[in-house]
Amino acid sequence: MDLLAGLDDGQRAAVLAPSGPVCVLAGAGTGKTRTITHRIAHLVATGAHPVSEILAVTFTTRAAGEMRIRLRDLGVPGVQARTFHSAALKQLRYFWPRAVGGQLWPVVENKLRLVAAAARRANAGTDAATLRDLASEIEWSKACLITPDTYVAEVARRRRDTPVAADLVGKVFANYEKARVQSEQLDFDDLLLHTCAVLEEDEDVAREFRARYRCFVVDEYQDVTPLQQRLLGAWLGGRDQLTVVGDANQTIYSFAGASPTHLLDFDRTYPNATIVRLERDYRSTPQVVTLANRVIAAAQGQSARLRLKLTAVLPPGPEATFTELPDEPAEARNVAEKAAALIAAGQPASGIAVLYRINAQSEVYEKALSDAGVPYLIRGGERFFARPEVRQALTALRRASVAADGGLPEGRTLVDVVRAVLADVGLTEEPPAAGALRDRWESLLALVGVAEDLAALESTVPADLGALVAELEQRAEAQHAPSVEGVTLASLHAAKGLEWDVVFLVGLTDGTLPIQHAESPEEIEEERRLLYVGITRARTRLALSWALSRAEGGRRTRRRSRFLTGLAPEGLAGATRARPGQSRCRMCNGVLTAPAEIKIGRCENCPSTADPALVDALRAWRKDRSAASSVPAYVVFSDATLLAIAERRP
Ligand code: ATP
Ligand code: MG
Repeated sequence: MDLLAGLDDGQRAAVLAPSGPVCVLAGAGTGKTRTITHRIAHLVATGAHPVSEILAVTFTTRAAGEMRIRLRDLGVPGVQARTFHSAALKQLRYFWPRAVGGQLWPVVENKLRLVAAAARRANAGTDAATLRDLASEIEWSKACLITPDTYVAEVARRRRDTPVAADLVGKVFANYEKARVQSEQLDFDDLLLHTCAVLEEDEDVAREFRARYRCFVVDEYQDVTPLQQRLLGAWLGGRDQLTVVGDANQTIYSFAGASPTHLLDFDRTYPNATIVRLERDYRSTPQVVTLANRVIAAAQGQSARLRLKLTAVLPPGPEATFTELPDEPAEARNVAEKAAALIAAGQPASGIAVLYRINAQSEVYEKALSDAGVPYLIRGGERFFARPEVRQALTALRRASVAADGGLPEGRTLVDVVRAVLADVGLTEEPPAAGALRDRWESLLALVGVAEDLAALESTVPADLGALVAELEQRAEAQHAPSVEGVTLASLHAAKGLEWDVVFLVGLTDGTLPIQHAESPEEIEEERRLLYVGITRARTRLALSWALSRAEGGRRTRRRSRFLTGLAPEGLAGATRARPGQSRCRMCNGVLTAPAEIKIGRCENCPSTADPALVDALRAWRKDRSAASSVPAYVVFSDATLLAIAERRP
């Protein structure tokens, strides 16, 4: 296979660079992920590194899975592509008995409970919101390599707003760590911390590890935390066979301690590095790219240091649309109707995504899509991993994986073993009749599906129960539901690195994007980068929308997002009502592109209409155009297809 075919000059330079430090700094959709998969395949094909020496880390389990599939398609199966966490878990499980002794401690099952006990002992608040804040503050600290001892000084130095008084957080943090160690459990950050510690302190282990792994590749490097960077350093042990790719404008995890500094300073860290910049955007239409460029151009602060401009190479597509709706349910219905129409016109549902700022926004879209009969899946599917049967199943699998001790009974596949374990929690041979039992059964079956996926993916590395548990824990942590075909509902954070033909970016109001609690200029910039990430997920169609008021918590009137100023077309900029003589689509309220005097205009927003009364009105109008004046609305269509019906407004 020609691994260089289908690459541009910049991508090729990164692929061909000799084994050593390589950094690809480039915007969304320029082929960074594609470049690293080709580079890995090339390093293997030329004999620079056998597959077993390579460790690739990506941001989500799904991205890791996709990378393995892409590599397999390029003729190099069996490359380890993992998240930092799953890589650390695998290594720690292997080295723990030797370096620490005994079995690897299990991962904390109920973190909030542990935090609650720690908070009680420190006389801190224990309401759900405070506990969540405390838990994420502890996570942030560990990701920033801050310990309970250094916490108070560090937050003072960084002028950080803390969820409760800093000394109180410090106490809760200390209590939490003490209780965790006493109960012999690890949280997710500990997996990384302990792997670092073992590699840094145990020379034998480090020697063995470094003899085994000699080539490291990191995707989404702009979002690496100090803890992940330290782990990378421990893996490398002073070597420089490191390829990183990233886009500083896509740094969206700085709230969790991530920072693009390592990406931006790569040439200083490795003066002999091959640095490649890519500018050609292969993912999106020029319309989408133009919007993305405008968002970047407006960026302030650190990401402005690297203002990469994207150049579109794809042919033009439909204009991006901007739609203002009266409330969230209407916004969701608008999305569901458009999605249904696109699917009816042949667009696969799996090529459509609805992206929002916070997971709680999914609810109203779930309802609207169900009502419209559109299948969907939730990335960040909290629901799935929060289900009692799934939690129970995970516990059972975890227990079984400890008993199996990495090995599997002779002659039984992973899927067999998983089925046997899950039989105890309700996975019968035959599906129960519809109802709660059936739902439970379906959830358990979905777990078997994950085992099947794993078994299919890992062609050289054996798929065992330990790997399955790690995978499920990863998904639970990242809140990914097992995949089904359907429209994807995802938060902007969960959407990173991915792409869809059609993207609905919803809830674009001040208070949601930027989110209410983003106050400092840095926080506002991170919100802007989220918009950039969202826009750049779209290949062809991009629909942005917002609702003026939100149903829940009273009908508060919202303003559309400040980030849209300068993005939305003139007619919509700032105006919530049509200007005199301007006409708006009755379905979506978008300004019509045809002048008001012309009674037939084109509304780009509405691929179809679902308003039967207006369809009847259109039919009547078509029959007798001279009777148009009798139609209260006027008719908008394109290519003889009804698009929408607009009312003229004074
Ligand atoms: P992101 O920053 O969003 O992660 P990325 O830079 O990693 O984006 P990729 O996902 O690698 O971009 O590529 C974006 C799309 O462009 C993919 O569909 C990929 O297959 C395609 N692509 C990349 N390079 C080329 C190329 N040289 N020719 C044709 N298509 C390409
Ligand atoms: Mg990518």
